[in-house]
Amino acid sequence: AAPFLDVRDLRVHFPTEDGIVKSVDGVSFTLDKGSTLGIVGESGSGKSVTSLALLGLHKGTRAVVSGKIRLDGRDLVALPEHDMRALRGRTVSMIFQDPLSALHPYFTVGAQIAEAYRVHHRVSKKEARERAVEMLKRVGIPQPERRVRDYPHQFSGGMRQRAMIAMALVCDPELLIADEPTTALDVTVQAQILDLIRDLQEEFGSAVILITHDLGVVADIADDILVMYGGRRIEYGTVRDVLKEPQHPYAWGLLESMPQITGDVEQRLNPIAGSPPSLINPPGGCAFHPRCTYKGWVPEGRCATERPELVAVPGTGRHLAACHLTSETRQEIRLRTAAGT
Ligand code: SF4
Ligand code: MG
Repeated sequence: AAPFLDVRDLRVHFPTEDGIVKSVDGVSFTLDKGSTLGIVGESGSGKSVTSLALLGLHKGTRAVVSGKIRLDGRDLVALPEHDMRALRGRTVSMIFQDPLSALHPYFTVGAQIAEAYRVHHRVSKKEARERAVEMLKRVGIPQPERRVRDYPHQFSGGMRQRAMIAMALVCDPELLIADEPTTALDVTVQAQILDLIRDLQEEFGSAVILITHDLGVVADIADDILVMYGGRRIEYGTVRDVLKEPQHPYAWGLLESMPQITGDVEQRLNPIAGSPPSLINPPGGCAFHPRCTYKGWVPEGRCATERPELVAVPGTGRHLAACHLTSETRQEIRLRTAAGT
């Protein structure tokens, strides 16, 4: 059967005075219902822009989008804004990083959830309000009959995030996109929110895309991982394969910078040095080469001149990576790193 979501060669380019910003430049992935894809990368890697394209939020902007986004047989890239609006919030829904930017301060939380429901359903205000109470209850907000009348500022950060999840799920979406849903929260609340997303996914059977800069977040919750760098895919596969044998030095860096929780303190070890590549004039060859400490292992300076293709890792099903290192060289690097030399 065709996958529920099939994204092929997606490009999102923004024309600017300085040149074309290629935020997303040829990204492909698939996702089935009931599954979770983690899209991982630094800011500017194209992960958020990818999700905005899935929601059709580029429509009416200067962004030029090409490629295919097939959702349950419909091509969202070609879909007119009017039809996209009918899907947004109902079929495809999004949880943002900062609930305060999504929740209006002047309206009660309940009114906003009810309104999100009424946009897509012909129900009375009373029925919509009952639905809001039910959703608040489902996302674990205590005393939902009372809290439904509260304003966003009367909620704690974690409660606001729960309320936003309630709003995103009120229409029972088939695809839920969560963009850094836990970044602004402390570690304990983060874990609770991720558990909640996982439970709700089981209950609703939706497909989930989790966007994050934190590989640790996806390790627990995702089925597949897509690592993006400079608007492109650099590694893609099942969580098992990617975490067991990450291929790309950038993914190694992300793994090393996974937060280590010691007591209450979250420490990030060895963040990857250097800055993200220009999206207008990316470095030639491998876009990561200016920051890569392993390029010397590839002969003839190819890292600076030849762009590595995304190819299957030998001996795996669908673990793909774009790096010139050979598996022998990778093995040798691992051995040396383990030996500390
Ligand atoms: Fe590093 Fe070269 Fe691999 Fe790019 S292709 S990640 S520069 S080793
Ligand atoms: Mg972002």
